[in-house]
Amino acid sequence: MCDICLDCIGDTHLKEQLKESAAKIECAFCGEEDLGVSIEELARTVDDPIREYCQIGEEEAHYSADSDKASYEQAGESLNYILQEEIEIDEPAATALESKLMDMDDYSPQHGEESFYEAHYNYHRRELSSWEYQEKWREYSHRIKHKRRFFDEDAKQLLAEIIGAPGTAAASELPCFQVGPENSITLLHRARRASGEGKALEIKKDAVKQLGPPPSGSASAGRMNAQGISVFYGALSKETALAEIRPSVGGIVAVASFSIDRQLRLLDLSRLGEVPYGSIFDPEYADRVSRLSFLEGFHHLIARPIQPNHEPLEYLPTQAVAEYVVNILNFDGILYASSQSGAVPRPGESSHSNGSYYPSALSPEELKLYNVVLLGVAAEIGTTLNLIADTVEFRTVSRISYESEWHYVYDPDEKSEF
Ligand SMILES: [Zn+2]
Repeated sequence: MCDICLDCIGDTHLKEQLKESAAKIECAFCGEEDLGVSIEELARTVDDPIREYCQIGEEEAHYSADSDKASYEQAGESLNYILQEEIEIDEPAATALESKLMDMDDYSPQHGEESFYEAHYNYHRRELSSWEYQEKWREYSHRIKHKRRFFDEDAKQLLAEIIGAPGTAAASELPCFQVGPENSITLLHRARRASGEGKALEIKKDAVKQLGPPPSGSASAGRMNAQGISVFYGALSKETALAEIRPSVGGIVAVASFSIDRQLRLLDLSRLGEVPYGSIFDPEYADRVSRLSFLEGFHHLIARPIQPNHEPLEYLPTQAVAEYVVNILNFDGILYASSQSGAVPRPGESSHSNGSYYPSALSPEELKLYNVVLLGVAAEIGTTLNLIADTVEFRTVSRISYESEWHYVYDPDEKSEF
């Protein structure tokens, strides 16, 4: 009889499930007499989650420089390694479990079925769809845009499910980027178009008022603020601040820097969803993965460029997100990529391939292409933010550079050649 004690199993969710059937045993792996289960019981418990959330690695073609023939390699890791990692057990226990799983593998070759567990196969975690959360977002956006009940309880509830409700584990995992004294980012830059020399002089004479955010009530609607709600939009470089106001060639613009005089906490959209997926034995695993993989594309949803004629309606969902993040989750604002500088990431570029993850902090060069929006007291000039007088400068736009890529226009009347 081969038994394993609960202390020799690392995964806490699995341990919790095994507790119900655990009895006093002598552990074959650490030698202790303690609560545990048979390897057979362990195999029965892990079998379903492994089949559901792990898959046999696909054959991937590799080409070497000196041959044009592909060599094939199976993606993933060995069964033994996967068992060690997923269950958090040592190699001897994984080896005993592996042979038990292969013994118990129930399939009928005469019906064309194949074995799932083979010692020489590789495995990796399955990609799970974020469909459920895409639906939640669609429902939320539709509510906000068309029902005209700006931010009612149902919309708030949907956002709580997507981003996280205050006080929950989901909310505590949200990536926070700090700016202000003692941080690498201590300045925010703003730009404003001047319609002519007269306006430029007006800005020069009263820079604080002219370059700061408009007072509440007279603020026009933007990506992150509803009409009448004053917020502070700033960029992390003067170049990005300038690009954001979309000036024309020959136009005069004023740019200036504001010091951030208080520690501010920003929700970092670039790293949203970039946390470990966690245990496949967690009953919430599928839901968690669905949510996190949706959040990885959230940055693109929020920061993507919107054509000027669509702005008022298309900005409604992001305005409510900003309000939720600040008023409900107590952030001071949001850090997001500039759509004007082309820094908004494409969706679907998952950092979670095969269940692993690589947290990636933004480099100083990448940060230059980022914007910040501050709401509430964090947006106040004279307290949190202060214009640095000698940074005010005027520029004439001499050249705008565009980059483009191929765009296919679909024509349903066009006959297919095939
Ligand atoms: Zn043990």
